Amino acid sequence: ELLIKGENLVKEYGGVVKTRALNGVDLKIGNREFSCIIGPSGCGKSTLLNLLGALDRPDGGSLQFRGIELSSMSENELAAFRNKSIGFVFQFHHLLPEFNALENVLLPSWIKTGRVNQNRQKHAIELLELVGLEGKIMNPANNLSGGQQQRVSIARALINSPELVLADEPTGNLDSESTEQVYELLRMINREMGTTFLIVTHDRNIAQKCDRIIEMKDGRIISD
Ligand code: ADP
Ligand code: ADP
Repeated sequence: ELLIKGENLVKEYGGVVKTRALNGVDLKIGNREFSCIIGPSGCGKSTLLNLLGALDRPDGGSLQFRGIELSSMSENELAAFRNKSIGFVFQFHHLLPEFNALENVLLPSWIKTGRVNQNRQKHAIELLELVGLEGKIMNPANNLSGGQQQRVSIARALINSPELVLADEPTGNLDSESTEQVYELLRMINREMGTTFLIVTHDRNIAQKCDRIIEMKDGRIISD
């Protein structure tokens, strides 16, 4: 079952002198896939992730999510779609250091709605347990290891039960043991919850273990 279909995606940055960050990308992502994107710095990986996550719009081409064209959506519709369907995990996880793990997971919904209901709190605690932080729920983020902080950000990405999680170098900052654990965690979520993953990584080990390796160069996909 097809989740994403991108055709001839083009993205340019800049004013007078333009950088063509994506130069005609065709990409299909199936439901429940666990795939990675590799390629040198500057080849367009983050740009592609930003388009797939509806954080940014393409300058050309077509991008469909479950058959719905994203370019036909208004800004509000796009924000609602992003919130409901996409989870993001970053290399620098952007946790608030003084807030505890639970608060960090709940913060996005708190900011949006101005309140946190009991069900959400319960769900957040379940997610923190799922990622192996049952004993650390009330610990401030700055008191957790790098790997534990990344687990918090994974729990945060899952709070709205997204269909697709986009991860930009999720292990880029971690030692090899934590890298392995974070990989196993993402795999487990993929298996147990059916979440689709697309991961940008420089880690050859991790890439080898994904179902599919999409290789980019100069704004194009050169192997898949
Ligand atoms: P990475 O190689 O890990 O993707 P980058 O340094 O290329 O990291 O990009 C980090 C962030 O900075 C991205 O959000 C990207 O969109 C932005 N960025 C990259 N290059 C430029 C640029 N020339 N001007 C402005 N922003 C940029
Ligand atoms: P990668 O993630 O593979 O490192 P990016 O998608 O970040 O690559 O960048 C692709 C190209 O687009 C690079 O040349 C980068 O400098 C440029 N770029 C990315 N984001 C911006 C931005 N916000 N403004 C200007 N140029 C950008």
